[in-house]
Amino acid sequence: MIKIILPLVLGKYSAMCLGPFILLRDKNQLTDYTLLNHEMIHFFQQLELVLVIHWILYVFFYLTGRAKGLDHDQAYRNNPFEREAYANEADLLYVLKRTPYAWVKYLKRRR
Ligand SMILES: [Zn+2]
Repeated sequence: MIKIILPLVLGKYSAMCLGPFILLRDKNQLTDYTLLNHEMIHFFQQLELVLVIHWILYVFFYLTGRAKGLDHDQAYRNNPFEREAYANEADLLYVLKRTPYAWVKYLKRRR
């Protein structure tokens, strides 16, 4: 994984995974293993969906949430890709035991 510090590009987001790149707001995040694990989970989600399909589905799930009346944060948090990442980010071995397409288990909307 290639980690790049880009404080201005990320806006209000603390980090972002784009294929093999993890974009971070500042260098202190290089030792935030929960955050890095969260982004690694997104990396594997993207890998199994050939990057572009993941990004299309990610936007689709977000916009579907917004269309259902969720605000930005709710639509973001209810995205199944984020739900999987948040639910497992503290388990630093999760990506080693994760099954492909594990995010599908998080499709059911949470309130
Ligand atoms: Zn995330």
